[in-house]
Amino acid sequence: MATMIIEGERAQAASGDTYEVRNPATGEVVDRVPSGGEADVDRAAKAARKAFPSWSKLAPAERAKILHKAAAHMLAKVDEIAPVLTAEQGKTILESKIEAQRFGENIAWFADLADKIHGEYVLLPDTRTYGLVVRNPIGVTGAIVPWNFPLTLAANKVAPAIAAGNCVVLKPSSTTPLATLKCIEALIEGGLPEGVVNVVLGQSTGNAIVTHPDIRKVALTGSTPTGKKVMAAAAPFLKKVVLELGGSDPCIVLDDADLDEAAKAISVGRFFNCGQACLAIKRLYVQEGAFEPLLERLVERAKKLKPGNGMEKDTRMGPMHTETQRAEVEAQVQDALDKGAKVAFGGGRPEGSEYEKGNFINPTILTDVPDGSRMVTEEVFGPALPVMRIKDLDEGLARANNSPFGLGSSIWTSSMAAAHRAVKELEAGYTWVNALQIAHDELPFGGTKESGFGKEHGLEAFYQYTEQKSVVYGGL
Ligand code: NAD
Repeated sequence: MATMIIEGERAQAASGDTYEVRNPATGEVVDRVPSGGEADVDRAAKAARKAFPSWSKLAPAERAKILHKAAAHMLAKVDEIAPVLTAEQGKTILESKIEAQRFGENIAWFADLADKIHGEYVLLPDTRTYGLVVRNPIGVTGAIVPWNFPLTLAANKVAPAIAAGNCVVLKPSSTTPLATLKCIEALIEGGLPEGVVNVVLGQSTGNAIVTHPDIRKVALTGSTPTGKKVMAAAAPFLKKVVLELGGSDPCIVLDDADLDEAAKAISVGRFFNCGQACLAIKRLYVQEGAFEPLLERLVERAKKLKPGNGMEKDTRMGPMHTETQRAEVEAQVQDALDKGAKVAFGGGRPEGSEYEKGNFINPTILTDVPDGSRMVTEEVFGPALPVMRIKDLDEGLARANNSPFGLGSSIWTSSMAAAHRAVKELEAGYTWVNALQIAHDELPFGGTKESGFGKEHGLEAFYQYTEQKSVVYGGL
């Protein structure tokens, strides 16, 4: 049985409660884990607070060295960790390998910054004084993670936090704790001191992290409703929050686009991880001249996405993570069909005995989806793509921005002027121009509008795990 990790040790829940983690492809039990609660979060926060003085005072170059060694140790275990992620989450083994690899690379990327914190020297009006702006770590930080990318979304929080000298209480999603435990165990085996990262499990530990007085900052990736609850719960503590929430990324394709490249990127952008991604092309707006040829290319690509158990070699798309999640996507598709949409590809579930026990669904492409339908107004967290016709860029931008979300966005065009306008006018935290929607370590990532605020990735994320202090030196 897997356990929580508190102060470097394997820990059961104080209550003794446990629950089962199940495989979304087979329904089988993968493992049992402790179902922690407030008492366990308190223990973990105390362990993190205890570890903080020595971790934060370590010579920065030494901290960088420890993190690089721990990351290398973890990276050597990618082949061991990936099948665990596939078993608990459902994604294909290739997707799991990419994700586990990204976890270790992210730790290493921020380790490089650990000894490169810069401050400022500031002249003051009085010539006998001068100012400095220094940066200190925050203390104990909390990380709350969803089930769609358990490892990369944990690393997005843990890596900058510990590189900057903080200690962490990490809560994976209840349904995907196992690969995360393996990654943190590997970091500890590789030399990460005990108590620097603690892992608690169980549904109620999220709220316990947000309301624990010793945890000074909380980074959540989750749905928009959860983000609103977390922000409200953090308010009485005036706690810093980073909220990476839902999205409904628009993609605009103009007549002058490279349609082969666009189709490739849109297909990956919608169907990767069985469509369960925050950054995913969820509304496609295509100019009239490109509409039919692009649709044809998308359908050709969708035909190759064979659903199946993520462990099978020929599987190109795993099952949906939960039955509820599949029912939600099916209801959104049905709503569009009821309102007049047409199926260009897919719809329904794959048939055959191998699909009976899992949450399988077909990749689906719909056209003529009206603006008022749920697929347009809500986040579609599964492999279903609505494709809409637009007359021109004006219409594309107006309809793209007509959403409460503002996470990612993209445009395909060979016109510099059109691309420039889209970059300026698309209401989103990220715009890709003629490029695959990949969130790069180097660029700050985060949403606007109801997709949240605060950044992960890049120097910005690192600095957001420090606090600025102004200093005046007098008596010169
Ligand atoms: P969720 O909001 O249900 O849960 C996310 C995490 O928050 C889980 O660990 C959960 O246990 C915890 N949680 C739930 N209620 C809480 C509360 N009141 N207080 C504290 N913690 C609480 O999300 P999910 O269904 O696991 O994930 C899917 C959602 O995440 C989608 O909306 C998706 O768009 C979003 N997401 C966003 C990003 C991004 O970077 N913006 C990335 C991936 C996923």
